[in-house]
Amino acid sequence: MKLNGILCNCKNQYLTKIFSYEKKPKKEKNFDIDKKYRRAFYQCNICDHIYSKLNFKLKNIYKSDYFEKTYKDINGVKKRFNYVNKLKLKNSDNKNRVLRINRYFQNKKDLSVLDVGSGIGIFLYEMKKKNWHCSGLEMDERYAFFSNKYLKIKVQNKKLQNFKTKKKYDLISFNKVLEHVPNPANLLKCAKSFLKNDGVIYIEVPDGKVKKLGKFRDEFCVDHLHLFSLASISILSTKAGFNTELAKRIIDPSGKYTIYSFLKKK
Ligand SMILES: [Zn+2]
Repeated sequence: MKLNGILCNCKNQYLTKIFSYEKKPKKEKNFDIDKKYRRAFYQCNICDHIYSKLNFKLKNIYKSDYFEKTYKDINGVKKRFNYVNKLKLKNSDNKNRVLRINRYFQNKKDLSVLDVGSGIGIFLYEMKKKNWHCSGLEMDERYAFFSNKYLKIKVQNKKLQNFKTKKKYDLISFNKVLEHVPNPANLLKCAKSFLKNDGVIYIEVPDGKVKKLGKFRDEFCVDHLHLFSLASISILSTKAGFNTELAKRIIDPSGKYTIYSFLKKK
């Protein structure tokens, strides 16, 4: 069986099918799919990494369709931003993340961050308040537009693979991004040349442990191609050319099962 961007060294020999879906789950958005809805998740018996297998294409998910089906228009983005931004620390995944990162950096001064897949800009907005020099990359041009125009944060509508700069960053973040790409190690590798020698990569991904709560959890949504384990985080980090400084399982205030990790250059 051929699955997305194989991480582990078992070469897909030791996989167990854990969940399958023969029709669209009720709460899932109605994406245009060219074939019959069929997908499944397979788990590696050695490292516990979970791979998704889709029997249809999800190609245009980040184009206009996705935008319209998710937030309708720019006012929808504003509303969503204001809602998330107003959440108190105890209810905010984002504010806890920002706290975690700033503790790690021990509130050093004059730091720069590049956020890959910056979405509606909620993370960079909070980092800016903590005096970080903020830039982002976002595949959806309307999210990028929103960040530039309304948040005054420089976000380029570009893939990391096509990004060019002479700058080096103290921090490059991938917040709930790597699970969306077929080959997360390849994407992570691209960050290396933009990172200072003593810089840090911060990643957040869904934790495969959530499988005990059943197949209809958001972590098993259609656009998640990977769910991770502590072991597969370490494999990912090594494959991309980094050392894992710290990797931890948490339950976000929103209830999401998450693993976060700090990586450094070897
Ligand atoms: Zn494995």
